[in-house]
Amino acid sequence: MKFNKIIFLVVLVSTFLVGCSSNSIEKTETETNMIQANMADSQSLEKEEAIEIVVVSEEKEVLEDVIDSFTYTSLPEMVISRIDGVSWKKEAPVGLDDLSYVKVLYWGFDDEEHTGELIVHKDVAEEITEIFKELYDARFPIEKIRLIDEYDANDDLSMDDNNTSAFCFREIAGQKGKLSKHSYGIAIDINPIQNPYVKGDKVSPIVGKDYTDRKNIRKGMITKESVCYKAFKERGWTWGGEWNTLKDYQHFQKQIDLN
Ligand SMILES: [Zn+2]
Repeated sequence: MKFNKIIFLVVLVSTFLVGCSSNSIEKTETETNMIQANMADSQSLEKEEAIEIVVVSEEKEVLEDVIDSFTYTSLPEMVISRIDGVSWKKEAPVGLDDLSYVKVLYWGFDDEEHTGELIVHKDVAEEITEIFKELYDARFPIEKIRLIDEYDANDDLSMDDNNTSAFCFREIAGQKGKLSKHSYGIAIDINPIQNPYVKGDKVSPIVGKDYTDRKNIRKGMITKESVCYKAFKERGWTWGGEWNTLKDYQHFQKQIDLN
């Protein structure tokens, strides 16, 4: 019975469809109707072309905006006034001329696009820009990218706020008189809470304690499989997560000739 019903429905629908198409053939068979149909066709074609052009230029604009959002320059005056006497001081091992200002786009933990700013040594500015473009393309989540000067150049405050930052004239934590690679702008810390510094019992920032378990991979963590690790390693950077005496999971640094 069911099968018969289906057959009946199929026949009914096909009859209806044939009826429709033969009707439209009848309509377009007169000469006047043919001309009208052609006119309508060419009009809709023009419309389609116009729409296509708009779409292409919009896409191009978006693409250009994305490219413009990954830039590096020498330090603008406005930036110098923000960092002079804060993260940079006269005693710093690099001059203001040795540093670059990098602007990037990134995907936040909120899955939204954000603009970030970094200061790095000018010799690594191009590759840092490329790396952050790769992280953006792969949608690697980063919570914040602000200059450490917004935290009064205090690394603990910056880490507690899960801020990603690079240049900062400072000593290595717990090693008086020994300058950190951040003092040269050749080191960067990414998502400090998800990638804490671990030495024995000491975890920094303390709020990152949950993330000393590196097997339970969560948002923003750097692992050997992550795009973040690969992007830096490919360009010859060292990862603090591979050190033996301590682990600094947030930290990448590059050895360059500083003379
Ligand atoms: Zn670091």
